[in-house]
Amino acid sequence: MVNYRSDDTIAAVATSPGKGAVAIVRLSGAQARSIGERIGGVTPEPRQAQVCVFHDESGEPIDRGLLLYFPAPRSFTGEDVIEIQCHGGTVITEMLLASTLRLGARAAEPGEFSLRAFLNDKLDLAQAEGIADLVDSGSAKAARAAYRSLDGRFSEHVHALQKQLTALRVQLEAWLDFPDEELQLNDTNDFEQDFDAAIEALKTLLDLAREGTVLSNGITVVIAGPPNAGKSSLLNRLSGYDAAIVTNIPGTTRDTLRENLSLDGLPVTVIDTAGLRDSVDPVEVEGIRRTQRAADTADQLIWVADIRSDLEAELKQAQAVAGDDVSVTIIQNKVDLTNGLAEHLKQDDCTIIRMSALTGTGIELLTDHLKKMAGYRSDTAGAFSARTRHIDAMKRAERHIRNARRQLVNTLALELSAEELRSAQLALSEVTGEVSTDDLLGQIFSSFCIGK
Ligand code: GDP
Repeated sequence: MVNYRSDDTIAAVATSPGKGAVAIVRLSGAQARSIGERIGGVTPEPRQAQVCVFHDESGEPIDRGLLLYFPAPRSFTGEDVIEIQCHGGTVITEMLLASTLRLGARAAEPGEFSLRAFLNDKLDLAQAEGIADLVDSGSAKAARAAYRSLDGRFSEHVHALQKQLTALRVQLEAWLDFPDEELQLNDTNDFEQDFDAAIEALKTLLDLAREGTVLSNGITVVIAGPPNAGKSSLLNRLSGYDAAIVTNIPGTTRDTLRENLSLDGLPVTVIDTAGLRDSVDPVEVEGIRRTQRAADTADQLIWVADIRSDLEAELKQAQAVAGDDVSVTIIQNKVDLTNGLAEHLKQDDCTIIRMSALTGTGIELLTDHLKKMAGYRSDTAGAFSARTRHIDAMKRAERHIRNARRQLVNTLALELSAEELRSAQLALSEVTGEVSTDDLLGQIFSSFCIGK
């Protein structure tokens, strides 16, 4: 649950645990300054790096380093903030943290510094999530997109859209206030254009956000198929090194193997699974059960088959293994043993790629296909990191705007139209957090690290 208390002072180690050149113990709240003064033995000067010896509460020296003081409201959290930059070691940081707690601070909960920044209007929710995404980013492209969110680019787009909707509502309410001036059908022409412009702006925003979610979440791909078809060879080909053991003894991959790859900046988790076949070996049976479970939750099932085997039969098996919303790609592997031609075909909603995992012929057909299926473009210059909850909220907003347009244009129902616009604005404000629930804040901030 969210801890909304802000009358106390919180403290945490802000850097990651382990040895390092420097570590930071951070404090935020009304007592931060006095605790910093006790520990550093100096009067904290705003925004200056002060070299000092850090002591525990009994005056025993612990370390030497820098003390920084950011008085409210010009700090990350909007409260008085003290940073103690000491040498990076678990014991030193724990000793310093313990002293701050004995001097009156409370151990911060995960994400509590960012929560306070949010509650003090230092950043909105999309920006706070941008911080977490930046820390978690798995590629340079994802990091750039996360920075754009943190920098407020996403929120700016949302605010611009909110303005457009407010302008529309103002026009509608004006008509409502003057019922004598009856609205004629052709009077709605201007409205229609404004509605269309708002829908267009929202669509652009959705596209950018979708690219952002793909960049931060990536896709999960399961590689399955009969033994010896070349699944491990394909995984090795995709990852560029020998991650899986390749042998010609059927049933080598008994457990599922997870690899994180970056295809041109698109994060891909590949799960290589045990060969799907009837087996009585208990270890292998467990592997097959895991394959089935992985195939249920993946975005893509890549079914690897030998090109010399019967395609119809492979298609049937692949479709039987794939979960309901999982799209299927059949790899007809070992094309080097036949005519050697790589191809991309379609059959029964399935993509078929003829290639060779051994020689690499046709691998780009597969990587291009995966990128396309993920909705990934290499030129994601404008994208910002976004989450599924943002996409959901924006989709709801789009639906309400379309309803509002219909209510007005088809039935001249001004009040209903205005109400739909209000709902669209509410949905959009969930993105930036003007409207939020305790549950949502709890979900978002508890996923942050302690000290963030
Ligand atoms: P898995 O059991 O499906 O994981 O299959 P492996 O990747 O272990 O491959 C089984 C055998 O097929 C190994 O001897 C591989 O070298 C061979 N193999 C895999 N892919 C190809 C291919 O594209 N062409 C040829 N000629 N052999 C392949």
